[in-house]
Parts: sequence; C-alpha cells; structure tokens
Amino acid sequence: MSRVLLRISLDVDGVLADTIRLWIRLWSKKSGQRLDYEDVIEWNFWRGLGITSEEFMELMRMAWRMWRDLPPTEPNLSEKVARLRTLGRVDIVTARPRDVEKYTLLWLEAHGISFDDIVWIRSSGMKARLDYDVFIDDSPLLVDGCMLRTRILLLYDRPWNRNISCESEFVRRIRSLDEAYQVIKGMLAR
Ligand SMILES: [Mg+2]
Repeated sequence: MSRVLLRISLDVDGVLADTIRLWIRLWSKKSGQRLDYEDVIEWNFWRGLGITSEEFMELMRMAWRMWRDLPPTEPNLSEKVARLRTLGRVDIVTARPRDVEKYTLLWLEAHGISFDDIVWIRSSGMKARLDYDVFIDDSPLLVDGCMLRTRILLLYDRPWNRNISCESEFVRRIRSLDEAYQVIKGMLAR
C-alpha cells in the first residue's frame, strides 16, 4: 500500500464527537428515563426505547445545534488527527442532515481538527462504496461493504459495535486514534 496514495476516511459521530453522550442527556431530560452510555449496545438502540427514527434524528440535530456542549471522544484530537495526516490523505466523511453541517464545521474548528477535505453523504450505508483505502468508523454498517471491496475498516470501539466480530483481515477493532495510527503505520511498513 503506497504512502502517496493512501486515502483515509475519518468519521465524525462516535469517532471524533461523542454525540451519543449528549443525545442520551437530551433524551433522558425529555423522557424522564435513565439510559447509560454502556447500555447503548446496538446500532439502532433507539428502537428499543420506543421512538421513531425521526425522533432519534431530531435529538441528534438538537445535540449538534448545541455543538459547544458536544464532548470529544478522546483528549487531544487535534494532535491525533494531525498525526494520522502524516500517513496519507485524511478526509472527514460524514452522513448528516444539511442543517447541521455548519455546526459540524464549527465543532471541528473549535477542536482544531485539520483535514484534507470534508465529504457530506446522505446515509452512512453508502460510505463503504466511496474510494478510500482505510475507514476509521464506529458503524457496523461498514463491515460487509469493506470486506466485499477489500478495504480496511478500523472499527472504533464503542458499546454499540462490540457485538461485531473483527476476525477478518479487513476489519480490525481499535480503541483509540493512536491505535489507528499504529495499525496504519504497520500496514504501510509491510
Ligand atoms: Mg459514526
């Protein structure tokens, strides 16, 4: 795999921004029910709460409108993403409603996160079809597409993807962005 050509897709929700943490706060306030982060063990966890996808999305939008309160997943994201960029081209690739794009840009800027390009897509299901060598993502929806297209998925460890088996040579679980850096660096050295 050539250093020059390496294209890395970096996800936002669940990998850079800990959106679900704020989502849970908003939902608990609205519903009066308790939900712990570690209990969010499914991608479509909101179904188990008896809400519609529209209600789920509306709270996601609200969380993004409150971008100043949206925590990062890890400290020092700025340095960690900059380090990834020494390995190749890093594009932010994210699915979201148009009306929250501006808040996403503000959040990325506030956290000093640099990137080569930002790609807005309509649904995360189509992400694996994009032309990247490596996807850093928390979504289990990318697993099949990456295996089929022999692309590398570095699955960012979250409670909602822990049921995914990472035994394929194309799917590997990572617990931090530093680990992503080490894995990609190892791939390049081969
Ligand atoms: Mg995500």
